[in-house]
Amino acid sequence: TIKTRFAPSPTGLIHLGNARTALFNALYAYRHQGTLLLRIEDTDLERSQTEYVQQLMTDLHWLDLNWHEGPQVGGDNGPYYQSERNEIYAHYYALLEQQDAVYPCFCTPSELALARKLQRTAGQAPRYAGTCAYLSQAEIAAKLEQGLKPTLRFRVPRGQKIEFLDLVKGQQQFATDDIGDFIIRRADGTPAFFFCNAIDDALMGVTHVFRGDDHLTNTPRQIMMLQALGLTIPQYGHIALIVGDDGTPLSKRNGSQSIQELRENGWLAEGVVNYLARLGHTYSEESYLSLTELANHFAVERLGRAPAHFDEQQLRHWQQMAVLQASATRLWDWIGQTVAAQVPHDLQTQFIAAIRSNMTYPHEALHWAKILFSDELIFSPEAQTVLAKAGSDFFHQAIVTLATTQGNYPEWVKQLKQATGTQGKNLFMPLRAALTGEVHGPEMANLLPLIGLERARRRLQANIM
Ligand code: GLU
Repeated sequence: TIKTRFAPSPTGLIHLGNARTALFNALYAYRHQGTLLLRIEDTDLERSQTEYVQQLMTDLHWLDLNWHEGPQVGGDNGPYYQSERNEIYAHYYALLEQQDAVYPCFCTPSELALARKLQRTAGQAPRYAGTCAYLSQAEIAAKLEQGLKPTLRFRVPRGQKIEFLDLVKGQQQFATDDIGDFIIRRADGTPAFFFCNAIDDALMGVTHVFRGDDHLTNTPRQIMMLQALGLTIPQYGHIALIVGDDGTPLSKRNGSQSIQELRENGWLAEGVVNYLARLGHTYSEESYLSLTELANHFAVERLGRAPAHFDEQQLRHWQQMAVLQASATRLWDWIGQTVAAQVPHDLQTQFIAAIRSNMTYPHEALHWAKILFSDELIFSPEAQTVLAKAGSDFFHQAIVTLATTQGNYPEWVKQLKQATGTQGKNLFMPLRAALTGEVHGPEMANLLPLIGLERARRRLQANIM
């Protein structure tokens, strides 16, 4: 059965890019009734923080991306925090040592930096020159004796090709001669990302890895290690990064927001998910899809190879779609208690029905609640202009016909039209302006019953000089 995973490093908040990676892994797992695993890649002890772990789980739950295996839910392949897996890594380091597939490297960071600089100057791609590749046991012992702390390097076999079929990018080929021996354990003893990431995927039974294509060049290295250890290699799919307006990878600088910020700024998870699912994956369905539907129509062949452009306009579109389809309960949750308190209890359902299609953010609900249910009205400059033009007689007739039609809006405007001879904009705009203080908004027919006849009458009256 299929198992995918999301393997964040808790060194910061989850942004749109990580969230999309999580989403694609989730959709693929859900699509195939497989397992979604969550693994916390916290080997970088200095930069990893528990707050970020908590936050990323909160974010995933908010997005409704629920994992079947990992922190909070457990499973047979734990621990799911890499910081708790050192004994496991030690075992695999020892296996690699036994087969001489690795060697200790005593080169200092400054020596390595200098070597890289020289290689660049000579027009070569910088890669480890193999300085420590063939130290004798005696040389190694002497250096250790001096208290030097080596890194551990993987001995890359020469003259080979590493090939794999990428789920997104198709057939890939890397020459091992282009890959320098790489570090799999740091001098302080902590495992390098490459290493534990690959080992854990294999040990945890991950079958499919969807990740950003910034990891593509890691893949041949990871395949070599897994091969050396006789472990199962997952299938990889490298998804094109999301880019901002300026064409560079999405980051704070060009408009990326963290999931936490999106939530706090009133975005609905369902909208965010509908948008992200379409960033780098095409759906023929243009309408809003539930998470289950998104999963059912998710297909690897529909993943794009070109960078996906982030477009806040599109995010807003999906937000509106999400608002339109959400249940009233869901919307009240989102809008919040403070607004709910301003809306009479028996009108709450009608209120939502009236403003739903004019609402993108929760603060708009507050805006309309104030207009509909409080006694003061703030008039926009446009509304003031419209009202000044309409004249007292119009409002006088409006009050008379409002009384005879008793809140039946179509009937009211019909009678008012007959009584005043005005029609179209000249008829509708002054009513809207007088009753709401604005010239745009939800259908008046739906607003009038919420405003109520008495308040409506007073608002019309206020325009009679
Ligand atoms: N911890 C890595 C990251 O956050 C995971 C990369 C991967 O998905 O393999 O970038």
